[in-house]
This record gives sequence, structure tokens and C-alpha cells, in this order.
Amino acid sequence: MSSYPHLFAPLDLGFTVLGNRILMGSMHTGLEETGDWNRIATFYAERASGGVGLIVTGGMAPNREGGVFPDAAGLYSDADVANHRVVTRRVHDEGGMIAMQILHAGRYAYSADCVGPSPVRSPISPFPPNQLDEDGIEKQIADMATAAGRALEAGYDGVEIMGSEGYFLNQFLVTRTNRRTDRWGGSYENRMRLPVEVVRRVRRTVGDGFIIIYRLSMIDLVPEGSSWAEVVTLARAVEDAGATIINTGIGWHEARIPTIATSVPRRAFAWVTKKLMDEVSVPVIASNRINTPEVAEAVLSEGCADMVSMARPFLADPSFAAKAARGEAKLIAPCIACNQACLDHVFSGEVSSCLVNPRACHETELSIRPAETPRRIAVVGAGPAGLSAALVASERGHSVTLFERDGRIGGQLNMACAIPGKEEFRRLVDWYGASVRAADIELRLGVVADARVVDGFDHVIVATGVTPRDPGIPGQDQRHVLGYRDVLLGGVRVGRRVVIVGAGGIGFDVAEFLLRDGESPTENPTLWQTEWGICDPSLARGGLAPDGPRPHVPSRAVTLLQRKGAAFGRSLGKTTGWIHRTALDMKGVRMIGGVNYERIAADGLCVSFGEARESGTHIEADTVVICAGQDPERSLADELAGEGRAAHVIGGADVAAELDAKRAIDQGMRVASAI
Ligand code: NAP
Ligand code: SF4
Repeated sequence: MSSYPHLFAPLDLGFTVLGNRILMGSMHTGLEETGDWNRIATFYAERASGGVGLIVTGGMAPNREGGVFPDAAGLYSDADVANHRVVTRRVHDEGGMIAMQILHAGRYAYSADCVGPSPVRSPISPFPPNQLDEDGIEKQIADMATAAGRALEAGYDGVEIMGSEGYFLNQFLVTRTNRRTDRWGGSYENRMRLPVEVVRRVRRTVGDGFIIIYRLSMIDLVPEGSSWAEVVTLARAVEDAGATIINTGIGWHEARIPTIATSVPRRAFAWVTKKLMDEVSVPVIASNRINTPEVAEAVLSEGCADMVSMARPFLADPSFAAKAARGEAKLIAPCIACNQACLDHVFSGEVSSCLVNPRACHETELSIRPAETPRRIAVVGAGPAGLSAALVASERGHSVTLFERDGRIGGQLNMACAIPGKEEFRRLVDWYGASVRAADIELRLGVVADARVVDGFDHVIVATGVTPRDPGIPGQDQRHVLGYRDVLLGGVRVGRRVVIVGAGGIGFDVAEFLLRDGESPTENPTLWQTEWGICDPSLARGGLAPDGPRPHVPSRAVTLLQRKGAAFGRSLGKTTGWIHRTALDMKGVRMIGGVNYERIAADGLCVSFGEARESGTHIEADTVVICAGQDPERSLADELAGEGRAAHVIGGADVAAELDAKRAIDQGMRVASAI
């Protein structure tokens, strides 16, 4: 019997049956904008063959004004239908089912032509929307119905109507964005008229026997958001209008509360979906931070939902469902909710990928083929770069020996695991461990591999990582000056007043680590909700606690320093940097930029400002922690080069600047796939 009986129970929709309760949720990957329909189809077909119950595509605009940005992918004309057929055919060939998401961005569309119920600009857009008149509203409804008709023609099994996250339909529902006084505004009945009419018209267009998922915002997390009574009223109305399934949306994009980042507890919002379960008769889907079969099974078995939506986990591992079904959950590459290669890419105009799985969205370009001639390969360093290289080389049939100086694998990832809010990184290290054990890799821990040790191998991959940079500050040799490794790994004593030298990713992480003594809120959802000011939407509109966020009292007074004058946290993730900055702000961390480090004294750090090194200040501290970046650890690479021996140098040993696990894993995979 399956370990996940609820997850693998079929879901009967009356006219069709889904094979299991796993929905691959909609993601904007940027793939559709490439226009390479073979690449798009390959991406979805791999997920279909991996056993997911139903796939939902990235959002397709129903018309130009509704596109998230100019030239966003959409089903604008009948000519687009043929392209989409390539996708649906390939998914169906793999035995999968796929629905197309219709996404009208409303005032979130990055264009002066964007439209909305009222000309109220979003705080995350420079463009106030053009207020729609009666004809304009009718056009939007008709365009969405037409897009659904084209989806049917293109062979999709259904559509998802995006009604949440603060997009167009959501904007009609609340007075925050809908200030109208005609039949589309004012009372709730009027405000919900547009979303309900869209569902009705879509159903009329596609007929019976076609899945309509309505993605409904169950907790807006913005002021003047929907009340719970309104959420229930809308859910019943969209069911009556013809929706087959209701999916959960959590928070508007402009909300200042994290909803999917790694510091959000797993299944943090399943309780909201559960509230709707007895209010409607159609199946309800739970979403957000569900990333393992165990968590998904618990959501279902506890009656929080009829189905679970996971999106990013299918970037990390296209075979998530198949591995879970086979009882190989430990071998599922985990989504650690870092956003580094998926959402951060999309917001930078790049095609998505995945930190853990660089092949995601690059399936046609990065294929792992059996090696023509199996070789003996030494990989030195079991951090992310070395682990990635070792696994890919082994998968290709090479004989791999993995050397690690430490007594455990993981390298710098082991430090991330120690940070409150980054507990998911532990799962990544565990997955590497399970994968190395499952592969035919010889792992040699506690071995310092010099040139002699790697003698006799056909190829040597040097992944020896980094060493902390020496900032050369006078007085840094005193006992109260610590390196970040001592703090995160060493269990050393740290005083109450701390100054951190360097405000890169690690400086921020060390600050988070030192601010908290007790339990991490990421592991305690109630604590996390209190910290961010979330409450039951039955108690307050939008689910915003009336007394606001209530962060814990920090256990230390922390000052973060950097030499540059720029804003703090610039180097952090595009979509997550604000969360780290807000978290430190809430806990009273002082951030001082533009400093020169003059000297470290017994009771603190002396800094000056400007080129003339004027206006020196003494910052009192019991402990100074150095987080000044890293340099490559190249002893082995240099030794091999000195002997004229070839080596592949990857990860931090190659270039330490701006090294992160994403680049390390990607480089490891690419080098190993080419040997
Ligand atoms: P980093 O991001 O390069 O930051 C190094 C910090 O040290 C900067 O604040 C830099 O700012 C300062 N610095 C550089 N040289 C210095 C010197 N000689 N003396 C004094 N200060 C100096 O490196 P990191 O913080 O060690 O992080 C390493 C990598 O891991 C980065 O790619 C980072 O993005 C990634 N990471 C990311 C996260 C995250 O996104 N949350 C977390 C952890 C790690 P000034 O030059 O202005 O002083
Ligand atoms: Fe998950 Fe990070 Fe991969 Fe995105 S990049 S899918 S958040 S592991």
C-alpha cells in the first residue's frame, strides 16, 4: 500500500477522473515567451511523464492590455492555437492532463495601457490603470471567454481562471482598488459581478466536460482586503456559475507579508483553505509551501483540501509524483523555496530554472546522456558544486570518487541550515546524502586530497570551495573578533552587543542567527503568523491582525556595517531581499553604510566616513563578527597546475565573487555532463 493513500487517490470530477491529487500549479517561467514550442512542450511533457495528476500552465493573457508585461505570452488569436497544440499533444502522449491558466493582470500589467476597475495605482507599479467603462468591461469578459474557447480548441483539458494574487478579477472584489458606483462597484454583490460573470461566460463557451478551476484569493493580506464572509459568498457564486474546482490564492503581490519564501512555514496557509471545505461542494485545492509528499499527505488527510497544488517542487524534480508513488521520497530533489533561480530569474527577464535542478526549463539544452567512454573521476570537495558534479558524472556511467576534508558532506550549505528561516537547506543536504548513497559513488570523508591522492584518475574536478576573506582590520586578532564560520558552526560564545563587518548574504544571515535564541518561527506557524501580523480572515479583513506584526524581542543588539554607501541588501535575492531587510528592521538592527574600518578595540569598532576618513565613530560591541566575503580555495588547483596536470575547477574554487549555491550546482552539472 502507498505511504500516501490520500495523495494517490483518484479525483472524480464527474466527466473525467484525475489520476491523483497532485496539481502542478501555474508558474511564470518565461518559457512561453521564448516562442520555442518544442522546448515548452518538453518541459511540460517531462512533468506529465513524472506522474502529476493535472498540470496548469503559466499565465496566458487573454488580450494585450491584460498581459503582465508588453509581449507577455497569451492566446491572442486563432494563430496561437497551433502552438499550444504542440504542448497539449506531448503532455497527452505522456498520459498527463493539462489546463491553461488565463491571467489578466489588470493594474499589475507593466504598461501605460493597463486597465482596472478604478484609476488606483498599485504600490508595485508606476502605471495607474485606465478605468474601464461598460464596453471595456464587456470586452474583458468576452476576451477571457474567447481565450478559454481557444484553449479548448488547442486540446487543453481545462482552464484555470486567475482570480487571486491581486490580479484583475481580484481588483474588482475589494474597495481598495474598486471605487466604482455603477453595477460593477459599491456593494459586494456588484463587486463580485465581474469574476462571476467571467466564470459563467467561460462555462457557456467551453460547454460541459471541460475543467474550470477558479483561483480564489482566500486571504488577501492587504488593507481593505476581502472579509471571510465575502470569500465564502464568492466561492459559492463561482461554483454556481460553473467552476469545477476552486484553487487557493494567498496574498496579493503587493502584500508586505511573505507567502512562499523559504522562511514561510510549510503548509502555512492550509488552515485557510480548510475553512472553505464545508462551504462548497466542488473540490478545493490547497497551496503555498507544500513541498514534500509527507506534507501534502497531511494536508489531505487532515481534511484541509481535496487536492494539493505544488509549483516550484516540479522545477526541482519533474518526477516528484512518480518517486513518491514508488516509495522513494528521500530521492525527490527538494524545492527549498529560495526563489533564486525561478522567480528571481523571471523578475530579471531571464527564463526560470531551479537552484537544485539547473535542467529545469533547459531540458532541451542540458541533457544528461550516458558517457561514450566511462572514466575514473575524482571530485574533490563535497559542497554543492562537487556534489552536483559527482551525481551527474555517476548518472552518466563514470566511476566517481568524492573526497571531502570535513567529516560530512554539504560544505557551505551546512551553515545555511543553521539560520532561522533557512531550515529547508537541511533537506537539500539530506537529499544529496541519499542520492550519493543511492548512486554508485565512493565517498571518502575526512580526506584532504592533495595532488598525490588524486593521482591515477582520468579526470579531477576541483570543488574545494572558498576561504573567508581577510579584511585586514587593525585589531582583528583579538578574542572577541570571530569569523562567520565560528559563529554559525562553532557554537562559540557571542556577546549581547554585536557588530557585523560586511552586509552581504552571509552578514544578513549571521544577523538573523544572532537575533534569535529560541525556536525559529519557520518551525512554529503560530509564532510566524504573530511575527508578520496575520490573523484569521473571519476576524479582520484581508487576514491582517489589527495589532499589526509583533516580532519577538531580539536576544542581541546588532549593528550591520558595509563600506559602500548603497542601500543595504542589494545583493540579496530580487524577490526575497525585502523579506530579509524587513525582518532585520522589525528587530531593530542598525545598518550603517559608507564606513571605513579604522580599528577594532577591546570594547567595539572604530569607523570613519568618506575619503578623508573623517568624523570617526566608536561603535560599542562585545563581539565583532567578520562577514567580509570569500576568496577561492585553490591550493589543490594550484598544485595540479604546478605539476602541469589538467583539472576542472568549479564553484568557489573557480570564482568566489558572488558565489552562491545556484552557480555552484549549475557549474557542477555542466562540467560533469561534458566529460
Ligand atoms: P558577499 O555577498 O560578497 O558580501 C561580502 C560583504 O563584505 C559585502 O557587504 C562587502 O561590502 C563586504 N566586504 C567585501 N570585501 C571586504 C573587505 N575587504 N573588508 C571589509 N568588508 C568587505 O559575500 P557573502 O556575504 O560572504 O556571501 C557569499 C555568497 O553567498 C554571495 O553570493 C551571497 O549572495 C550568497 N548568499 C546569499 C544569501 C541570501 O541571499 N540570503 C545568504 C547567504 C549567502 P562592502 O564592500 O560594501 O563593505
Ligand atoms: Fe525551489 Fe529554489 Fe528551485 Fe525555485 S530555485 S524551484 S525556489 S529550489
